[in-house]
Amino acid sequence: MIIGGGYTGMMAAARLAWRGRAVALLEKHELGWGASSRNGGMVHHGFKVGLQTLIERYGDRGAELYRSSIDAFDLVEHTITEQRIDCEYERSGHLSLAYRAGHMKGLGEEATVLRDVFKLDVRLIDDAELHSEVGSTAYHGALLVEKSGGLHPAKYMAGLTRLARDRAAHLYGGIAATAVERRRRGGFTVETAGAKIACRDVLLATNGYTDGILPQVRRRIIPLGSYMIATEPMRADLANQTIPRRRMLFDTKNFLYYWRISPDNRMLFGGRASFAPTTLWRARDWLYAAMVGVHPQLTGLRVERAWSGDVGFTFDRLPHIGRIKGITYAMGYCGTGVAMSTYFGQLAADWIAGGELPACWQRPFPTIPLYSERPWFLRPAGWYYGLLDRL
Ligand SMILES: Cc1cc2nc3c(=O)[nH]c(=O)nc-3n(C[C@H](O)[C@H](O)[C@H](O)COP(=O)(O)OP(=O)(O)OC[C@H]3O[C@@H](n4cnc5c(N)ncnc54)[C@H](O)[C@@H]3O)c2cc1C
Repeated sequence: MIIGGGYTGMMAAARLAWRGRAVALLEKHELGWGASSRNGGMVHHGFKVGLQTLIERYGDRGAELYRSSIDAFDLVEHTITEQRIDCEYERSGHLSLAYRAGHMKGLGEEATVLRDVFKLDVRLIDDAELHSEVGSTAYHGALLVEKSGGLHPAKYMAGLTRLARDRAAHLYGGIAATAVERRRRGGFTVETAGAKIACRDVLLATNGYTDGILPQVRRRIIPLGSYMIATEPMRADLANQTIPRRRMLFDTKNFLYYWRISPDNRMLFGGRASFAPTTLWRARDWLYAAMVGVHPQLTGLRVERAWSGDVGFTFDRLPHIGRIKGITYAMGYCGTGVAMSTYFGQLAADWIAGGELPACWQRPFPTIPLYSERPWFLRPAGWYYGLLDRL
């Protein structure tokens, strides 16, 4: 039984069904309702925690973790091609843009490791060359990574759903799991408002929408809102001037902006002003101001849509897959989960079906004292990271 119908849950359903297991998936809302149909569609390797920190903190294990994020990227491309998922995928490359001149040093070190250790096609772009990549004077250079791309998130979700359904997984939207109990003679009972379902295994794939169903997991996940706007389509010449090669873009701030141009020439611009909850309308106005701050040439472009979704943060800013009381969980992508959630869905399914969990992913899932549901630390953490961005 899979709880949660986003990329993680759906990929796991498709994989388990492919392995010949009878599988059912419960999704509280409609299938794909969570972050998986609302994200920026940027597919890339890497984690929220930077590559250098990863290797400093975990040594060879850190490098293995990073390598699995590259595998995750490959898995998305392979799945799209192999399963003919029509989701407007383009291998565009991405730019990590230096918000401060001093950030170029860190980007340079990252480039060296990506090139020398992981053999990736990356290069630094200096201030002078940057105008050929981005129509903005707000940045001081960038790291260009060719191995990344963009897709239409809801269409990718629909493709994974079709895949799971074609393989005879049973998918139920509009049904919340309300409790999971271990059965004395093995297996679990999953409760919903109207039924008790016996099953052999349970996968919790609820990420930023994790509720109290398994409190030990809930107190390790911090749900945070992320916000996006989509403008009206712009003229082709304006689009070409703004992001000439249609790269995926994000910057080096803690409260980063991420943005791209959609195939129909809309600017898709995302980010968050603080960790504190806000209204969608406030976030929309703030994002619009941020967008024209970076690209003044877009002033006057109408915002047609604004939306938000919850991402699942963790205390070590890495995703986690593991088991608590025999229940498998896979989550905590910290806002960079299109590739990793697809990968964790497959990994969780293979583990449930009898495979081994790779050693690098057998890691403690940290939490902090006095945290169960109310993230009391968000406001001070937000001030701290906001201050770092301003200094
Ligand atoms: C605005 C935004 C922009 C983003 N942009 C990017 C990006 O450009 N690139 C990138 O890599 N990542 C991005 N992300 C992150 C990425 O979307 C997520 O990491 C990924 O979609 C997580 O997938 P998931 O299946 O684990 O979780 P979700 O897609 O969030 O699915 C979890 C589901 O669990 C369901 N659920 C919860 N509790 C229960 C229950 N008790 N019973 C049944 N169902 C339950 C929820 O309803 C939800 O649908 C973004 C996220 C947001 C919100």
